[in-house]
Amino acid sequence: MKVKLAIEALKHLPGTQFICCSSLYSSKPMGAYEQPDYVNAVAMINTLLEPLDLLDQTQRIELEFGRERKEARWDSRILDLDILLFGNLQIKSERLIVPHYGMKVRGFVLCPLAEIAPGLQLPDGSIITNLVAVIDKDELTVLV
Ligand code: AMP
Repeated sequence: MKVKLAIEALKHLPGTQFICCSSLYSSKPMGAYEQPDYVNAVAMINTLLEPLDLLDQTQRIELEFGRERKEARWDSRILDLDILLFGNLQIKSERLIVPHYGMKVRGFVLCPLAEIAPGLQLPDGSIITNLVAVIDKDELTVLV
């Protein structure tokens, strides 16, 4: 499974200590097309990399695993690595927006995030457990 290879790759990032990773969560794709379920996980790292250098690294890992960019936004993708949070920083640049847009309304992001960081407070002050409590968790399955 690509996600497991990506997690292994995160363990070898330069200047970086891998802390932990959530369970794998399977969810139904958001697009209208017939495609396999998504598998998501959230990893926590300590890094000396600057945010854009970390983005370079995650994009390198995406390319290594042959991400295919297709026309439709929600078309099937091999691997998508997103930087959800970078400490308490709020970043808005051309290449990088942190916290990741949409992360507060996606069960497949919030549930694995809450699993590994149950006491987390986002830079805007919102509390992870409150966000998880109101999110739609239908069709989200923890893989064993
Ligand atoms: P997507 O296809 O939705 O994963 O978007 C990929 C693009 O989003 C890349 O060109 C990144 O430069 C940009 N991007 C902006 N913010 C982020 C983020 N927090 N994590 C990953 N990519 C990001």
